[in-house]
Amino acid sequence: MISKKIEEAFNKQIMEEENASRIYLSMASWCDVNGYPGAAAFFHRQTQEERFHALKFLQYINERGGHAKLESLPQPTLEFKNIKEVFELSLEHEKYVTKCINNLYELAIEEKDYASQNWLNWFLEEQVEEETSMNDILDKIELVRMDEDGKRGFFMLDRELKELGDLPFDED
Ligand code: MG
Repeated sequence: MISKKIEEAFNKQIMEEENASRIYLSMASWCDVNGYPGAAAFFHRQTQEERFHALKFLQYINERGGHAKLESLPQPTLEFKNIKEVFELSLEHEKYVTKCINNLYELAIEEKDYASQNWLNWFLEEQVEEETSMNDILDKIELVRMDEDGKRGFFMLDRELKELGDLPFDED
């Protein structure tokens, strides 16, 4: 059984993961209409990952005797200055999610919930990976010289992003 405090905090995290999923979906759509198919594919994959994170929390809460409940989601940002800003905001958001996971870990320590601490380890590692991958892309963006709207120079990087893997809906 998880405590009420853990149940509430983990429920809030379902919302955070779903919110991240929607933020990336909005970014994918922006990339799509602004001529960045590779970046769009990248964010579509991120969307799927975040949804998977939300489902993991949902399942865990219910398995441990709680009740996973969905909350309303905020309106995601629809417009961005350029492609660089999209990745900057993504990194910022990942750092925010890392903070959320750290807070959950701290709460699990306070509640002496060792099982939840152990379970959260997967998310701690996942956040290191997410931040690293966003950082790597931003480093590459810094290396290519961008023009005003950030279009030039991104072409090769966009192709690289597309090659990271197939989109779920590309398979048949
Ligand atoms: Mg996540």
